[in-house]
Amino acid sequence: MLGQMMHMPLTIGSLIDHAARFHAQGEVVSVETAGGIEHSTWGEVAANAHRLASALRKLGVKEGDRCGTIAWNNRRHLEIYFGVAGGGMVCHTINPRMGPEQMVYVINHAKDQVLFIDATFVAAAGKLKPALKETKHIILMGPRSEEAAEAVPGILFYDEFLETGDASEPFPDLDENAASSLCYTSGTTGDPKGVLYSHRSTVLHSLAGNQPDSINISAKDTVLPVVPMFHVNAWGVPYIAAQTGCKLVLPGPNLDGKSLVKLIEDTETTLALGVPTIWMGLLAALKETGAKIPSLKRTVVGGSALPPSMIPLFAEYGTELIHAWGMTETSPLGSVNQLLQRHTKLSEQEQADIRLGQGRAPFGVDLRIVDEAGNILPHDGAAQGELQVRGHWIVDTYFGKDKSALTMDGWFDTGDVATINDEGFMIIRDRSKDIIKSGGEWISTVTLENISIAHPAIANAAAIAAHHPKWDERPVIVAIKNVDGEVTEEELLAFYKGKVESWQIPDKVIFVDALPIGSTGKVQKNKLREEFGNVLLDAS
Ligand code: AMP
Repeated sequence: MLGQMMHMPLTIGSLIDHAARFHAQGEVVSVETAGGIEHSTWGEVAANAHRLASALRKLGVKEGDRCGTIAWNNRRHLEIYFGVAGGGMVCHTINPRMGPEQMVYVINHAKDQVLFIDATFVAAAGKLKPALKETKHIILMGPRSEEAAEAVPGILFYDEFLETGDASEPFPDLDENAASSLCYTSGTTGDPKGVLYSHRSTVLHSLAGNQPDSINISAKDTVLPVVPMFHVNAWGVPYIAAQTGCKLVLPGPNLDGKSLVKLIEDTETTLALGVPTIWMGLLAALKETGAKIPSLKRTVVGGSALPPSMIPLFAEYGTELIHAWGMTETSPLGSVNQLLQRHTKLSEQEQADIRLGQGRAPFGVDLRIVDEAGNILPHDGAAQGELQVRGHWIVDTYFGKDKSALTMDGWFDTGDVATINDEGFMIIRDRSKDIIKSGGEWISTVTLENISIAHPAIANAAAIAAHHPKWDERPVIVAIKNVDGEVTEEELLAFYKGKVESWQIPDKVIFVDALPIGSTGKVQKNKLREEFGNVLLDAS
């Protein structure tokens, strides 16, 4: 017997329509690419999203067609998120930090019919255009610009283009399983792979991702997604923001510490989300300027491992730091670290220790660890294995591929190595490609990095596996000193004593001025291995 309740498809259009009906005056603040701050509302964003869907339909863009964006976090990008998906097309967010070859690859692979670009990328788009096979229209996200018209012949202008659409045109009825958005993995090796989200997966991700023990955004919040809208849909924040009607602050192109401090102060941001490198910049700016950010109650940190020193540093400003884990393939929320009721009685230090891990799976996601032979390992906090995941918003098959990306029994292998304890708290120990295998034993690069980063003279550090004639691989630290930091190789190695087993202490420290950072803000350890992977051989 079937239940007898209404069936309403879970669609992205319904999120923005809800915002328009119940949060029309809710604020959307946007830092413009040309500079300056623009104030808008959920009502205006929703009206423009409808105009855009209507204008695209009139332009001949069909349901299911992909529309690319190369853009910062701003109001027009937000309208494109909802207008394109609401109109039944697919919003393909492109990472502008990809090299031009990879960009051409993803745009052609996605068969983007339309490309929306921010003013920053006009010159780049002019160069890419001859190589784009399917792209019929390039639209500058702004008013008419003669300069852009010269650089990219035939370019359209978003503000004029919107005028051709009708704000009162409803979104089409869509199957909730229809594709809504597309994001390619950063792909350190091989071509990037596309993950094609559906309306249903996105709405479920927004609902579950916003539970009190997850991101927990309310209509009272002012939310600043520093995480780019081209990086896994800004972790789903734009959708959650529309669902809750919170005040949304979109930071535009300037993501340096000082700009963010000012924006947080000016908008009284209560929650900000981003990768650790962004927060390192923010903390440095706070220290340098002496600014306080009393409004900022919480930050969500994910995308790469959280340096332990960051929790107490944020606590000094009265900001709670919440650690989360996910991937492009997991929409991205796979786990969030929030304490349990019984943890509230623990000391601050004990709580901070628990918070360092990547946390627990929200309802809708299931996690397990397996050994190299695929045997399921216990959740005892000690057994370490490949992390696998399944759930309502986890990839099944990469875009354009026939073969499922899953194991025989339907799990997605994340490529991360983790432990899970008996309360479900998961800790990422490493990427399986990065972990150091010394004499048959594993050494976690994350553990080694955290120790270096905790040294007062060190600004950032990466641990890599270097080839070794006897042990196969041994750890080497590549570190950046603080501006006024003084430390020698011997002193930094001595700092490891007592913090890890003696055989896990790195063999060498190399000081550098900068670490190679990839397009999503992560240290590119493959580049470091290429450069320094033989230092121990050369020395022997
Ligand atoms: P991406 O698809 O670019 O978002 O990359 C996903 C990968 O980033 C994951 O498989 C992890 O290796 C890494 N990652 C994401 N969040 C965390 C985290 N909180 N701690 C450690 N690694 C993380």
